[in-house]
Amino acid sequence: MPHVLIAGGGVAALEAALALRALAPDPVDVELLGPEPHFWYRPLSVAEPFGRGEARHYELSTLAADAGARFTHGELQGVDVAAHEARTSVGSIAYDVLLVAIGANPVAAVPGAETFRGPADTGTIRGILAEAVAGHVHRIAFVVPRGATWALPAYELALMTATHLRAHDVEGVELVLVTPEEEPLQLFGRAGIDAVQRLLEEHEVRLVTLATASEFSYGALSLSPEGRIPCDRAIALPRLRGPRLDGLPQTLDGFVPVDAHACVPGLEDVYAAGDITSFPVKQGGIATQLADAAAQAIAARLGADLVPQPFRPILRGMLLTGGTPRFLRHELGASADSAMAGSDLLWWPPAKIVGRYLSPFLAGLGAPEEPPAVPSGQGVVEIEVALTDRELERLAAPPQAPEPEETVGESVGDVMSTEVLVVAPEDTLGEVAERMRRCDTGCAAVAHYGRLIGILTSRDLLRAFAARVHPSEARVREWMTADPVTVPVSAGLEHAITQMNTHAIHHLPVVDGERPVGMLGYRQAVSRTRASGVGLGF
Ligand SMILES: Cc1cc2nc3c(=O)[nH]c(=O)nc-3n(C[C@H](O)[C@H](O)[C@H](O)COP(=O)(O)OP(=O)(O)OC[C@H]3O[C@@H](n4cnc5c(N)ncnc54)[C@H](O)[C@@H]3O)c2cc1C
Repeated sequence: MPHVLIAGGGVAALEAALALRALAPDPVDVELLGPEPHFWYRPLSVAEPFGRGEARHYELSTLAADAGARFTHGELQGVDVAAHEARTSVGSIAYDVLLVAIGANPVAAVPGAETFRGPADTGTIRGILAEAVAGHVHRIAFVVPRGATWALPAYELALMTATHLRAHDVEGVELVLVTPEEEPLQLFGRAGIDAVQRLLEEHEVRLVTLATASEFSYGALSLSPEGRIPCDRAIALPRLRGPRLDGLPQTLDGFVPVDAHACVPGLEDVYAAGDITSFPVKQGGIATQLADAAAQAIAARLGADLVPQPFRPILRGMLLTGGTPRFLRHELGASADSAMAGSDLLWWPPAKIVGRYLSPFLAGLGAPEEPPAVPSGQGVVEIEVALTDRELERLAAPPQAPEPEETVGESVGDVMSTEVLVVAPEDTLGEVAERMRRCDTGCAAVAHYGRLIGILTSRDLLRAFAARVHPSEARVREWMTADPVTVPVSAGLEHAITQMNTHAIHHLPVVDGERPVGMLGYRQAVSRTRASGVGLGF
């Protein structure tokens, strides 16, 4: 029986297991591997601080068995692609096909602000609400950070806070929502944007768009590159990061690149789905769509008579913008005569992450309520947005320091090394180590058909050799940093240094279009600005 190892026990992992059960031609040994014994269902955690719902969790071994899989308690640490072996906290596990669906870790995005990650932070929000009700807090900011995240909970928290304060007859607390988006909930298209804007106005939540919060301190939220918003408390959504895995390409933020079939490019029999992928929208519905694409490709690889459909991201759901549908109150477990008016949960279905196989599976689990009916009528905006390449590019762009209109002093092209070592993704680490030594460099640009796809540094080599890989077997592709931050030749040196500081990197590939044409080292750049006096204020 072919063995499909699915690392993860969350939304994408379960959807993939269920899809494989439905699509695979013959019995498949599907094994879920996860460090957590529970499957966490997080969407309603946003209602928890207001006493209007709770994040549920289910025993993962039972769910896996119901989905026709088995569950192993352990953690994926790395992959030996050539040997078809996963390195895990419980030893090596051989696989025929590996699907990496290990989610992403939330990290604080705004120093000094409270971070809302989900169920773990209910108490923090409750504390701030209590302070506001007691009259100790007069201005609260809700912050959407730049980069890969799911922005909706920030809007829901702001709206629910407004309703909570009204219900407690608290007046005079200013609420502000700060977001780098051009318009609120931009992903949801025009109808969604207009509806949310109206809702924020009705709840008297001030909106600040095109703003990136960099820090909360001394009673103000600092914005980058400039600006301050006075506030007593700031609640920010986290920035997401992928956990480091040996032997897989990952971006600077730890995300794994995938193609339209959720396959990790160039790695045989390795797929990835969900928040761990470099796809920039981190949402449950999107995670299940990626898992479905992976399951179809895996089923076809195992002989199923189907043409695997590529992943075409579609954001599906309903935006709830008025009143409280009766069934929604039921879903939230609040009594009909609850003192709270309006639920202010924006997204439908709130307690369901939309998944072709996962939604009916969870609904049939004997969950406390029947699956609630879809709301209709006034105050419901249907969202079915196919995410465009332009929008995705915008979201995927790493936080950029704004480039000055005019380059002052030297440009990157004046300073960079042009003798850049360019290697191929299929080169072995042994070959590259030798070439690095010969060229006396600590860094190589990885190009595929002339296009820069990654960067490999001596640190990556050290990491690989510490993981005991064989130098003539391990390939560059498995250990490189994928989709690196780059600068064009014409960029100013000061700008390049800011980029390196922002991303904490020491090597910056310089590109002409997508072609690597140079490499800029941090020390090289800084010493040059020192020599010329640029940036030191004289
Ligand atoms: C507060 C909040 C509200 C949200 N609301 C919504 C919503 O309304 N609708 C929606 O669609 N989405 C929502 N989301 C987003 C949604 O929860 C995620 O996008 C989705 O869970 C991603 O699925 P995943 O399988 O990639 O990751 P997860 O569901 O996070 O699962 C990751 C799994 O991998 C396991 N794991 C971690 N490390 C390892 C390892 N090294 N080896 C093996 N296993 C590992 C974890 O234990 C976990 O089981 C919300 C998220 C939050 C935080």
